[in-house]
Amino acid sequence: MSVHDSTIKTTAAVDETGAGTNRILQTRGLVKRFGGLTAIDDVDFAVEEGEMRCLIGPNGAGKSTFLKLITGRHAPSDGSVYYDGADITDLDSYERVDQGISIKFQVPSIYPELTVRQNLRVPLQRVASRSEYDERTEATLEQFDLLEEIDTVAANLSHGQQQRLEIGMAMTLEPDLMLLDEPVAGLSIEETEEIAELLVELNDEGVAFVVIEHDIDFVASIADRVTVLHQGEIFTEGSIEDVRADPEVKRIYLGESGEADAEERAGPEADH
Ligand code: ADP
Ligand code: MG
Repeated sequence: MSVHDSTIKTTAAVDETGAGTNRILQTRGLVKRFGGLTAIDDVDFAVEEGEMRCLIGPNGAGKSTFLKLITGRHAPSDGSVYYDGADITDLDSYERVDQGISIKFQVPSIYPELTVRQNLRVPLQRVASRSEYDERTEATLEQFDLLEEIDTVAANLSHGQQQRLEIGMAMTLEPDLMLLDEPVAGLSIEETEEIAELLVELNDEGVAFVVIEHDIDFVASIADRVTVLHQGEIFTEGSIEDVRADPEVKRIYLGESGEADAEERAGPEADH
């Protein structure tokens, strides 16, 4: 854990920030406005160390925006983000990465013209010395079942392999918290199962996750707890069984597009 030595933990701050608890991530009164639109509306949210949390909700609920507030890609209009008990609201994205937060956005950010090995070198340069590159690369590719593709140009990988490569690149930074925006959108059932297994394995190794996903079967196969976001607010939170059985949750999904569009909701959507 990357607790700042300089963090002053007053008694009053314990409950407010998660300091001195096992909360790895917390938001307090988080707000994001885009002009007249409130995309995130006063959200208090917390994730425990080593937890696997899934974030679901209809299109436009604010899920991607929420993740971008945690990574620092967006500055909040109001409220705070705490990581490991320290206020990180004013830190730049790269400083948050250095503290142990990693992200995979909705739009893949691999380098299509580089080989798998070269792609992994990009994050490795931040954390490893040149003499470690080969060993670290091979260990990562082994875990992500990509060793045979080490010299393949990334553009020629399957969609599932590209997703695994991108998660592998993020894991190279050895994060304590990994944020994933729709990691299985557009993947086959088999590819989806591979990603689920991989995430559960990484979570067993102690990495906490916040995963945005529409595919409810995928969510059921990985989540400890589920948070439902609706119109920028936390609608409900609980086990996948509770959330699935909640008629109000069904209503907000049906209100959006109808059950018949479930397939469509599972597809990739444009990143902002
Ligand atoms: P989700 O990921 O749940 O589908 P988003 O977080 O992408 O939802 O979007 C939430 C709302 O905020 C939507 O109404 C969307 O149009 C709006 N929004 C998202 N990003 C921007 C932006 N950069 N500028 C203006 N509006 C945005
Ligand atoms: Mg989104």
